[in-house]
Amino acid sequence: MKHVGHFIAGELLPADDGSQILNPASGKPTAIAAIATPAEVDRAVAAARAAFPSWSAQGLQNRATVMLELRGALQKARDELVDIVVAELGKTLADAGAEVDRAIEVLGQLASVGSWYGGAFSPGVSRGVDAMEVRFPIGVVAAISPFNFPVLIPVVQSAMALACGNTVVLKPSERDPSATLRLAEILSSAGLPKGVLNVVLGGKAIVDRLVDHPDVVGVSFVGSTPVAKAIRIAGVSRNKRVQAFGGGKNHMVVLPDADLDLAADAAVSAAYGAAGQRCMAVSVVVAVGTIGDALVRKIRDRLAKLRTGDPAEPATEVGPLITADSRDRIASYLASAASQGACVVADGRDVPTKGEGWFLGPSLVDHVRPGMALHSDELFGPVLSVVRATSFEEAIAIIAGHPLGNGAAIFTNDGGLARRFVDEVEAGQIGINVPIPFPVFFHNFAGWKDRAFTETKLFGPGAIAFHTRTKTVSARWPDSNSTKVDLAFPTAK
Ligand code: NAD
Repeated sequence: MKHVGHFIAGELLPADDGSQILNPASGKPTAIAAIATPAEVDRAVAAARAAFPSWSAQGLQNRATVMLELRGALQKARDELVDIVVAELGKTLADAGAEVDRAIEVLGQLASVGSWYGGAFSPGVSRGVDAMEVRFPIGVVAAISPFNFPVLIPVVQSAMALACGNTVVLKPSERDPSATLRLAEILSSAGLPKGVLNVVLGGKAIVDRLVDHPDVVGVSFVGSTPVAKAIRIAGVSRNKRVQAFGGGKNHMVVLPDADLDLAADAAVSAAYGAAGQRCMAVSVVVAVGTIGDALVRKIRDRLAKLRTGDPAEPATEVGPLITADSRDRIASYLASAASQGACVVADGRDVPTKGEGWFLGPSLVDHVRPGMALHSDELFGPVLSVVRATSFEEAIAIIAGHPLGNGAAIFTNDGGLARRFVDEVEAGQIGINVPIPFPVFFHNFAGWKDRAFTETKLFGPGAIAFHTRTKTVSARWPDSNSTKVDLAFPTAK
């Protein structure tokens, strides 16, 4: 059995015991992952702290060049990482490949991080006085990531921090840590100095230690909403910078004039990809007007053709869920749907699968209404709810009433209503005939309401504010003959 240890100061530490990592497609153990002791967490933070002065002094453009070298290394290791993601998380080959490809994109786009840096210089704000804002990295950033993107999210979190001159301690999900760990090894051997990027493994206790550590200046968290909120509160009470991004419940509004085949294809792709385990998955379709029955039929017909099974088989489109508990929790919503007044159109509990894995087939529930648990909770699985609305305005109100303002999409051919949707809908990422509006990395990504406990962004230009702090410099080069004592408060005169 493979043993997975921590990665501290450029070294992979041996791991004797720890927790079992299980393959979700078979239920069988694939690895034993170490759980960091408090002393190991402290060692990782100390390594990052020690590496900070020289890494931060390297200069923005040098670090941007390193990002390109890391990109090349990640490209070479693509297939190896894909295999790890398939084995530990159960993503399909195509989906795991897309995840690693987007991580490669991040590193390419961060090569132009300098163009986002901004800053202000105001010459001559007073007689002979210039004023400027100067950015500096913040120090050691702890990056805590969820299970569902074990390559992409750690790359986004750490690359943003590193490009800005910070050093990082990553804490991946305890359910599938191997990809993140291998990633750190690959990036470090491609040009990151020792200690710049470290990985510690484990669960809540490790996160608590990191958030509490006096040398951790910034905490960047991605995961579920309750944990995001708790970490934001804990970090802020210790006067740390915290950006904490939570879960999602993404609505896709289909207007009566939409192309229903296009909308059905989009809804199925966005709801069941990654078995619904994406924070940007479409989990609710809001069918406006009289199209509901036709749209539900078209979605149901497509579900019958989806192949659920072993994610390592190239033809598989829907893989397993991450744990048996997740599968059972999500299945319980299907069991109680009828008693809530909803109608199960496709029941994934009936899908036959080989092996002992944690499978739930693509499921469709119609006549869901706001207030039902199916609508209010983030299920994080392959269940699509259909809510009926009589008007565009009602659809907007349904989205506004949900606490998770992550993504929202509209399918229509009416430009005026699409424009109103952008103006009125309460969500951070908006798609117009695009079901998963996950942007390119030079645009901002965050979310509204209980989706984001921060004003800064996970990536894009708005992430610079989290990863740097500014000094405002006022500078004067006076003529020494004109100096005099003046105790009045300085004015611009
Ligand atoms: P999770 O909140 O259970 O875990 C996330 C991380 O926090 C893990 O590293 C875990 O070890 C740690 N953790 C768990 N409980 C903790 C606690 N009580 N105190 C401190 N740390 C704790 O999330 P998950 O199940 O790994 O991932 C799925 C969730 O992440 C979903 O809600 C999904 O929507 C969300 N997500 C959000 C984004 C985004 O960009 N906002 C992206 C991907 C996933």
